[in-house]
Amino acid sequence: MKHYTAYRLSTEFFAIPYQQDTYILYSPLTQIVVLANQDMVDMVASLRDGTLPGATGANMDALQLLIESGAVNGPEDQPPNFQRRGDWKPTEVTVFLTNACNLRCSYCYASAGDYKGSLDRATALAAVELVVRNTLELGQQEFRVSYHGGGEPTLAWDTLTASALRAEELAKRHGLKVALNLATNGVLPSWKVDWVARHIHDFSISYDGPAWAQDRQRPTMTGAGSAETVEATLRHLDSHAARYGVRLTVTEETVLRLADIVAYLLKRYSPSTIHLEPLFSHGRAHAKGLAAPQAWAFIENYREAERVARQYGLELYYSGARLDTVTDTFCGVPEGSFNVTPEGLLTSCFEVCHPDDHLADKFFYGGRDASTGVFTVDQAKLQTLAGHTVRERPECQDCFCKWHCAGDCIAKNMTSDDRPRDRLKAARCLINQELTRDQLVRRLEQNSTVMMQIKAMSDSALIPLGPAEPIEPVPIQEPHAPQPLVQIGLLHATR
Ligand code: SF4
Ligand code: SF4
Repeated sequence: MKHYTAYRLSTEFFAIPYQQDTYILYSPLTQIVVLANQDMVDMVASLRDGTLPGATGANMDALQLLIESGAVNGPEDQPPNFQRRGDWKPTEVTVFLTNACNLRCSYCYASAGDYKGSLDRATALAAVELVVRNTLELGQQEFRVSYHGGGEPTLAWDTLTASALRAEELAKRHGLKVALNLATNGVLPSWKVDWVARHIHDFSISYDGPAWAQDRQRPTMTGAGSAETVEATLRHLDSHAARYGVRLTVTEETVLRLADIVAYLLKRYSPSTIHLEPLFSHGRAHAKGLAAPQAWAFIENYREAERVARQYGLELYYSGARLDTVTDTFCGVPEGSFNVTPEGLLTSCFEVCHPDDHLADKFFYGGRDASTGVFTVDQAKLQTLAGHTVRERPECQDCFCKWHCAGDCIAKNMTSDDRPRDRLKAARCLINQELTRDQLVRRLEQNSTVMMQIKAMSDSALIPLGPAEPIEPVPIQEPHAPQPLVQIGLLHATR
């Protein structure tokens, strides 16, 4: 076959099935996105293969646009490439203050409340001081201190307030900016809400919706409902005009009423974000045999809920669909993120926060030396953690989400690899791909000509990106890779 070299494809494109005979052609690294028919896809495939003989009347305009956009004969792609920079010098710390919890959520990843123990104040203060020192040494302007699970951070009140006040004091003394964040279950008295509303800049409140959902999924340690208390907290935060987000864990029981739940929340409260995450069967959820909602049920009901949220001017958030992020790492694990457990140990993963966790050996990489008070890290472990990028996941290499989802959550991948018959990863990938494609469609809709085309097609069915039937557990021998999508070379054009 004769190969033509006048037109060189300079970026990687994907043809994502959309509707009958229609594709979304997408280049993640140049952010070029176009609605295309089969002929356009074929033309781009020949460009990729070097078999396009030249510009003809039929393809001239499209080719010209590709050249102008830099997709043809332009600079080569520069994919993100995470490299650990020098010494471990974090300027952000997440403090897991305690394993204690006043709730007993049915699906708790950390099995909070089953373990005892809280972080000692000296270690919490030392962690804050370390990030301040690093910020100054690196010549940066801002550091971050976050409080997160294992258990409920506001139960370790003295350590929380002492370390937050120390962070504020050091920021003032050194002319730095400090960001204080808190993830809480919202079950706290109003005087604590007052304090956090004054001092904490960003909250995330875990709340699963009206009492029928919240009380069942997130009961208190005595088995009573918690909805009333959390809603009092939300009202209180609204009265302070505080900025907060709500995080919902979606289960088999709540997935079919997701739109109602989002409407319930937005009618009554004013969160600035709503984060929906399907339950992941890990920790207490796995021990109790709880399963994630079926992937298609999550996707379809997420779309419904999204329509409701938009009426209130809000976009929903799901961690695996993030078109605006271009990266090769899903989270801070590869850089050895500085998370201090209640035992004073260091873990790079938010969800692997107890030394008895079956993944602890993979994510724990250091601790505070009791005699010297210094944090020490295992460099070999850090080096291994740095390798957890999308490049290590063969199933991601031909996926259009690879520079966005970046291989997805590393801990979930490990759990999924350990339990292949549960097909956990296949379900996550289907959700990631469908919801990322929705974001691409929204981006296309910003172009008025394309929007008219999309609206005209709205009665036709979307082509499913994965198997249309439920993803069920399979025998262990069967591979559980996601459905591959069509991958081609490149294109951009408007029609
Ligand atoms: S590996 Fe997953 S659970 Fe752990 S920090 Fe990253 S995203 Fe969070
Ligand atoms: S295959 Fe799955 S994990 Fe990998 S990039 Fe695609 S959606 Fe993400």
